[in-house]
Amino acid sequence: MTYLLVGFGKSNQIIAQYLMLNQTRFHIFNDETSIPNFSLPNETIIFNSVKDINPSLYYHVIKSRGNPHVSPLIKLVIESNAPIVNEIFFGLPCVKHPVIESTGTNGKTTVTSLVEHILTKDKAVAVGNIGHSFLIEALYSDKKLIMELSSFQLKDINTFCPDVSIFLNFSPSHLDYHLTLEDYLDSKKNIVCSQDLNKPFIYNLDDPTVSDVAQARGGNLRSFSIKDSNATAFFDGQTIFVNGEPWLNKNELLLIGDHNYQNVLSSILACLDFETKEKIINKLKTFTGVEHRLEFINNQYNLSIYNDSKSTNPISTVAAVNAFDKPVILLVGGLDRGNDFSCLKEHLNKIKHISFFGQSGSDLYNEFSPLVTSSLHSTLEESIEHSFKYVNQQTTLLFSPGCASWDQFKNFE
Ligand code: ADP
Repeated sequence: MTYLLVGFGKSNQIIAQYLMLNQTRFHIFNDETSIPNFSLPNETIIFNSVKDINPSLYYHVIKSRGNPHVSPLIKLVIESNAPIVNEIFFGLPCVKHPVIESTGTNGKTTVTSLVEHILTKDKAVAVGNIGHSFLIEALYSDKKLIMELSSFQLKDINTFCPDVSIFLNFSPSHLDYHLTLEDYLDSKKNIVCSQDLNKPFIYNLDDPTVSDVAQARGGNLRSFSIKDSNATAFFDGQTIFVNGEPWLNKNELLLIGDHNYQNVLSSILACLDFETKEKIINKLKTFTGVEHRLEFINNQYNLSIYNDSKSTNPISTVAAVNAFDKPVILLVGGLDRGNDFSCLKEHLNKIKHISFFGQSGSDLYNEFSPLVTSSLHSTLEESIEHSFKYVNQQTTLLFSPGCASWDQFKNFE
C-alpha cells in the first residue's frame, strides 16, 4: 500500500510523518524547486514531472490544499480513476471527538472563530484552514474540532458525517476553480451527503439555494433567519431570539452588520447541544470579530475606518456597506475574476464615493461612474490617498475590495 502525496506543504508533511510512524510507504510529487528540510525514508521517490507518474499504482493520492482539480497531475489522476483524497478525508478515521463544521461562500472563518470562542479553547479547537492541523488534533486532542471547509476541500470528501453541520450562504464564487456553478454547489452539498439525519444541520432560511439543500436533506434541521420569525434562531433587527425566546440585544454584541448577526445566529445553533444559554450569551458579548473582516481601525481622530480586506466577492462588499448608517466611502478592486458587481447597484444610496483600483478597477469604474461619484486609480495606495479627501466625522471609510488578492493589506496607515 503506497500513497502519493501531491505537494509537500505543511499538511502533507504532517501526513508524511504519520505515514512514517505507521511504516507506510509514500511517494511525493513536488514541482517546487526543493523539498523542505525533512528526513524521508530511503524508498521515498520524489517526482518533479507529471509524465513520470502512474497514478493507478497508488492506494490513495493525497492532494494538498493548493492543488486545483484543473492542475495537470490531478487531471491525470482523475482520468485514471485513482482514489483522490485530501488531508481532511485522510484524517477522518482518526476523529474521536465531536466535529462542528461550517461551509458557505462567506462567513466560514468568522463562524469557526466564534464557535471556538463560545465553547472556549479549553474544550474546542479550530482546525484546518485557520487553526491547528486537523490530523494532529484528530489523533491527540480531547477537544471538539471546529472547522471550516471550503468547496475545494469538500469536492474531495463525500463520506463526511460531522456532528454539527452549518451551511451559511451560497453565491457565485471561485468559478475560476470550479468552472461551473453546479460543480461549486455540488461540492458544498458534500457537507450533508453523508451526515447522519439525526445530527443537526444548521442552515440559512433566507438563502433559497441553502434552504433547498436543507429541504432535500430533511432530518434534524435548525434554521436561522433575519426575515422569518419562524426560524429556530431569528434576528428582528434589534433582538436575537432562539426557539421564540429573546436571548440578547444587538447592542450587547461587538460585531456589526446583518451578515454578522447571521453568523451569530448560526454559531448559537451550533453550540446549543454543548453549552448553556447563559454561557453562550456571555461569550457572545466578548467576541471582537476576526481581523481583516470588517475590522475597526483605531485612529487618533476617532474616524469610522474599517478594513474588510478579506472581502473577495461582491456579496461580502454589499454586506459590509450595509453594516453602516453613515454614508460610506468605499474602496473596491483587485484581481479581475469576472466578479459581477451589479448587486452593489441597489445600495448606492448608502455610498458617498467609490475609489476603484487594480486590474478590475477600470471596467468597474466605467460601469459605476455614471451612477455614483467615483474615481479610478492604478494602485491601492493612490486610491486610499484620494479617498481620505471625503473622510470626516459623518462618513465611514471602508476597504472592502470584493475581489481577490488584496488580503495581505493590514491597515490604512
Ligand atoms: P470565509 O472564511 O467564508 O471567507 P470570512 O469570515 O473570512 O469568510 O469573511 C470573508 C468576507 O466575508 C469578509 O469580508 C466578511 O466581512 C464577509 N462576511 C462574513 N460573514 C458573512 C456573511 N455571513 N455573509 C456575507 N459576508 C460575510
